[in-house]
Amino acid sequence: MNHRACRKATQLLSEAMERELTRSERLWVWCHLSLCRSCRRYGRQVRFLRRAVRVIPVTEAATS
Ligand SMILES: [Zn+2]
Repeated sequence: MNHRACRKATQLLSEAMERELTRSERLWVWCHLSLCRSCRRYGRQVRFLRRAVRVIPVTEAATS
């Protein structure tokens, strides 16, 4: 996994605690976490995953 993607992922994960990420940002982070163990561990620390799996289906339902 390249470092630039990991830096972007950790930045978005920390921003997710302060603001609502856009749908595309959430999807990007979610995809990166599925590939990257170290960012997944970081994501668990900030509890992003738990929120993301709840938020993404709601957003899908709202736009369809
Ligand atoms: Zn990563």
